[in-house]
Amino acid sequence: MDKLSRGTALNGNVRIFCCNTTDLVQEATSKHDLYPTAAAALGRTLSVACIMGSMLKDEKEKLEIVIDGSGPIGQVVADGYYDGTVRGYVDNPHVQLEKENHKLNVGKAVGTDGVLRVVKDLSMKRPFISEVPLQSGEIGDDFAYYFAESEQTNSAVSVGVLVNTDCSIKSAGALIIQMMPSAVETDIQIVENIVTHLKPISQIIDEMKDPSEIARAIFGDYEELETRELKFKCECSRARFARVLSKLPEKDLQEMIDEDHGCEVACKFCGKKYQFSEETLQGYVNAHQALKKKAS
Ligand code: ZN
Repeated sequence: MDKLSRGTALNGNVRIFCCNTTDLVQEATSKHDLYPTAAAALGRTLSVACIMGSMLKDEKEKLEIVIDGSGPIGQVVADGYYDGTVRGYVDNPHVQLEKENHKLNVGKAVGTDGVLRVVKDLSMKRPFISEVPLQSGEIGDDFAYYFAESEQTNSAVSVGVLVNTDCSIKSAGALIIQMMPSAVETDIQIVENIVTHLKPISQIIDEMKDPSEIARAIFGDYEELETRELKFKCECSRARFARVLSKLPEKDLQEMIDEDHGCEVACKFCGKKYQFSEETLQGYVNAHQALKKKAS
């Protein structure tokens, strides 16, 4: 079971988020048939989405992360929700590059010619959109930069995914350490020292599994405030796609009827497929025509 632990340490001067996302990254990998480099890129992003989801205030809020670096992977997209669920996809799940220093080359797959964008729907009139230029495309560095620039919070961000030789996920997760405004110089030095000597988070998760235990091992005075279960979940439905289809221009619908005798749409986020028959599409066309008649 995937889990997130959130808490504070150093007399409340730092806050810590640690999550094990191995199962949900495995689920994303299976659903999208991700090759290892793509699994690492999406897995890292989904792990941060889990943590950012836990930073939301209530269940009406949600967030979307888009990483678009003009690399061969295309866009990496992840949605995070207050209840600990996430979903996501990459444009090109079959991107695969040579390893560099025995490491999956996420930076090259993602690219650096672009932005990291976070759209927060805080159930206000307009969503809150924040965008920063990509730093390395390795995801961790990019989010550290995002937190500093957009949220004025100095953060150490460690994300990682270990992929087995059979392409299954060995471990995945993230650790984010944020300095609170109350932090003093010694706190900063302690955190810097910890981060410098820290093993890759994917390796720590592989060895210890439990994020609460990991946080306690890193900070002796770790005070846990909350844990939550994490899951890959997509809320797509036939009704939602039907609504989108019914609003398409009449001539597009007619084309689907004439040429394909129906249509199949696949959800980008989870890969689920929905079929719509010729008769259903004809029903949408008829509705368009009835509306036109009424207007004239
Ligand atoms: Zn879906």
